[in-house]
Amino acid sequence: MALAFDEFGRPFIIIKEQEQKTRLRGLDAQKANISAGKAVARILRTSLGPKGMDKMLQSPDGDVTITNDGATILEQMDVDNQIAKLMVELSRSQDYEIGDGTTGVVVMAGALLEHAERLLERGIHPIRVAEESLVQTCMTTLSSKISYGSCRSRERKDVNLDLIKVEGKVGGKLEDTELIYGILVDKDMSHPQMPKQIEDAKIAILTCPFEPPKPKTKHKVDIDTVEKFQNLRQQEQKYFDDMVQQCKDVGATLVICQWGFDDEANHLLLHRNLPAVRWVGGVELELIAIATGGRIVPRFQELTPEKLGKAGLVREKSFGTTKDRMIYIEHCANSRAVTIFIRGGNKMMIEETKRSIHDALCVARNLIRNNSIVYGGGAAEISCSLAVEAAADRYPGVEQYAIRAFADALDAIPMALAENSGLQPIETLFAVKSQQNKENNPCCGIDCNDVGTNDMREQNVFETLIGKQQQILLATQVVKMILKIDDVITPSDY
Ligand code: ADP
Repeated sequence: MALAFDEFGRPFIIIKEQEQKTRLRGLDAQKANISAGKAVARILRTSLGPKGMDKMLQSPDGDVTITNDGATILEQMDVDNQIAKLMVELSRSQDYEIGDGTTGVVVMAGALLEHAERLLERGIHPIRVAEESLVQTCMTTLSSKISYGSCRSRERKDVNLDLIKVEGKVGGKLEDTELIYGILVDKDMSHPQMPKQIEDAKIAILTCPFEPPKPKTKHKVDIDTVEKFQNLRQQEQKYFDDMVQQCKDVGATLVICQWGFDDEANHLLLHRNLPAVRWVGGVELELIAIATGGRIVPRFQELTPEKLGKAGLVREKSFGTTKDRMIYIEHCANSRAVTIFIRGGNKMMIEETKRSIHDALCVARNLIRNNSIVYGGGAAEISCSLAVEAAADRYPGVEQYAIRAFADALDAIPMALAENSGLQPIETLFAVKSQQNKENNPCCGIDCNDVGTNDMREQNVFETLIGKQQQILLATQVVKMILKIDDVITPSDY
């Protein structure tokens, strides 16, 4: 509401309609929030595991993504609800910290919400549900019972994923995907007559354009005679010429430039025998600099021989019958920079492969940081569930319900895996659970691919300990947060 005055000074009140608010309180608030969270988890549930289904998402401008990666699905879904956004955020945090397990974390949170709802319906206060410190039981179980070091070294190590470039091009088969020991740039030489192969290349990596400097303030140039025009033209040409000369003087045999240059400059480069690649993005430029041991040079005057990057071989390769070409920069000074070059029938396949490779790289990095693993296929969740159930027996009060509900929620992961593989979820879960108990074997999980054994150690299905811990931790945190909200105030037009 606002108080205003008309032209005669008389007061009147403006009521803004959009300021009306709707409000949900108490149990209604919790239920509404829970159902929003569950709705998001339900979408991802069918995508979990090796037999998970893909989702097809279309962006407002018509781009289609086909994926079963939780973080990507949620990222592309345009969710409006605030609680649903929390679930999106949850998946993103898992992606950010661990890089994998983004579907599982949301399914886990959904299951926790579902079981929490049942408790609330039975009249148990949300705080009693939210405050159980069960996560610790799971953490202890995870790290004591089922984690095995895969390599002995205790030294702290890390990997820099920035040095691994993932590039894709439509065409060929997925099997044609290759590892290139160097950098691949999706560009071609600036002129078709420039050499397609340069050995022992000395590369000038430039962020300055091949063009005469532009006056910073407004100037007027009067050109009213042919002489003046010729003069100006000659001066411009001299600029280009000097720039090319500066590159040649320091010994550059290839120029990689962030900017474009016009036909005249291009022609001059060809004429002066200095091959060039233009419009190379900033991130790529940095990678090229790291790989070739060169420096990015922002001004021609700053070029020196030491700043040139070095590569044993730079070549341009063409693909298929199209005019598609790419530049390979190989045998670089810093051999740690590599490119994974993905081929595939269409863009969507390549994008999905990129995401899978990203997940795999993250798992590899996590294993190098911390080499403890837990067994997958729901085996870890079943072990935790059994441990939490056992803990429940030690509590006589209402807490027991909450603890058992937490154990039941953990079962949701193996159940979803079983269901997605066409197995009977409840029967399979209980069979595996009793097997874990009877055989005292925490490696029993869901045989999703029908291999014939459900021992995940034999199947070699494992996940990183830190990834699994993070999943349980994050899912529990977000659910606690949702349960503690008992008042939702939203503008009514929302
Ligand atoms: P996320 O995005 O959470 O990583 P995925 O769709 O990759 O989701 O599924 C991961 C789940 O599938 C994990 O619980 C993992 O243990 C399980 N899983 C992966 N491969 C297999 C397999 N071959 N057999 C049984 N379970 C598997």
